[in-house]
Amino acid sequence: MIVTHTQICILGGGFAGIYTALYLNKLSWKRSPKPEITLVDQNDRFLFTPFLYELVTEELDQWEIAPPYLKLIRGTKIQFCRSVVQQIDLKNRQVQLQQGKLLSYDWLVLALGREASLKTISDSDYAFSFRTLADAQKLNEKLQSLEASNNSTIRVAIAGGGSSGVELAGKLADRLQEQGHIYLIERGEKLLKSFTTFSQKIAFQALAERGVKIHLKTKVQSISSDSITLEHQGQIKTIPVDLILWTVGTRVNQLLRHLSSQQNHQDQLITLPTLQILDHPEVFALGDLANIRDHQGKQIPTTAQAAYQQASCAAYNLQAAITGRPLRHFRYIHLGEMLTLGTNSAIVSSLGFINLKGRLAHITRRLVYLLLRMPTLRHRIQVSKHWLARLLLLYFSGGKSTRQTTNNRSHSIGSPDHSLHQNDSKL
Ligand SMILES: Cc1cc2nc3c(=O)[nH]c(=O)nc-3n(C[C@H](O)[C@H](O)[C@H](O)COP(=O)(O)OP(=O)(O)OC[C@H]3O[C@@H](n4cnc5c(N)ncnc54)[C@H](O)[C@@H]3O)c2cc1C
Repeated sequence: MIVTHTQICILGGGFAGIYTALYLNKLSWKRSPKPEITLVDQNDRFLFTPFLYELVTEELDQWEIAPPYLKLIRGTKIQFCRSVVQQIDLKNRQVQLQQGKLLSYDWLVLALGREASLKTISDSDYAFSFRTLADAQKLNEKLQSLEASNNSTIRVAIAGGGSSGVELAGKLADRLQEQGHIYLIERGEKLLKSFTTFSQKIAFQALAERGVKIHLKTKVQSISSDSITLEHQGQIKTIPVDLILWTVGTRVNQLLRHLSSQQNHQDQLITLPTLQILDHPEVFALGDLANIRDHQGKQIPTTAQAAYQQASCAAYNLQAAITGRPLRHFRYIHLGEMLTLGTNSAIVSSLGFINLKGRLAHITRRLVYLLLRMPTLRHRIQVSKHWLARLLLLYFSGGKSTRQTTNNRSHSIGSPDHSLHQNDSKL
């Protein structure tokens, strides 16, 4: 007898996609044959985005924050396919990949996330985005060339006072130290608009202590290769800069625009509480590309925290749908917020009564991510060992870790492959 396996195809291996695959694999499939799970991503590595800032100061290595998919799925029945999704045909249940390859599915998970959109400014060629490993490498190369130029100052403008702008400002201030002149530009009245008052206050203080010049109620009018023009209360000012980082404006993957399923004004796919899209019960949408509302109609934030929680619900519901059981409604639990603020410092604000800052928050943030959020036990153990070895080295070198000395560097994330391959062999 030929047993035909149900095909589950997961597009996108970010927080939503990889965790859905791993959860699905862990479920026990007694009532029906285990489905075939195919995970598709354009990159060969999962990126743990909350730690991307640590590459700017070289507090962490790339292999720690970006483990290869093949290592994460080792020992599971998940198939990984590295390819760019080019088209999704909901009617015929097919996905077209690069070079004409077609994937057929019975169940589909859409988890392609969002991408940087520099469309909000003209001359966007002059601005750097910071969302991917490639962005971090490009930024590092630029910083290295500025550091090597012997200029007495390195002037960096960061557009956007949300979490990305704030975290980048802190890391850059600590990396560049006295040489750095960092301008953080925010259109609104405060930094970290959607964060707790505690986080807003501590972040403002931490950046001010590091000499970051915070421009609130200020709009970016235009940018050029060596300057940024700002407007504040009707006054126009042009500041000469060496580097512009653009942290505002993202958009969902453009191929979703052609899907015959209802989307909101930001092109996010509207889902049912079960995470299925409208009119297609065989398709689940989660993570940053989905417009998911809680039982009170409030939109769930587009964060790793939410995507991670959606992944377990999607895996449960996929199994329930395949085996004919009732599906669950997704319930989001907001556990709090964590931000890195320069080297060895952070903010943790959780459950309304835990408010930590500085080194204690830094250690808490690292441990929470390591123990509760990084994928697979194998990767967590390897990273833990590395951190322990680093701590011992720091202890025996009397606190003179090369990692903390961020100025005058002769190495860096610009040469990532070295550190990647060195450690991949151990995974
Ligand atoms: C620098 C940074 C720091 C962040 N820090 C935090 C934080 O501290 N806490 C928090 O909660 N959230 C944080 N976020 C937000 C968080 O990363 C996202 O909300 C989360 O990653 C969303 O998960 P996702 O699976 O929807 O999308 P993603 O994680 O973005 O994954 C999408 C995946 O789809 C792949 N993909 C896209 N298009 C294609 C295609 N056409 N073909 C094949 N593959 C494709 C991508 O390669 C990617 O792997 C941060 C984001 C960034 C950029």
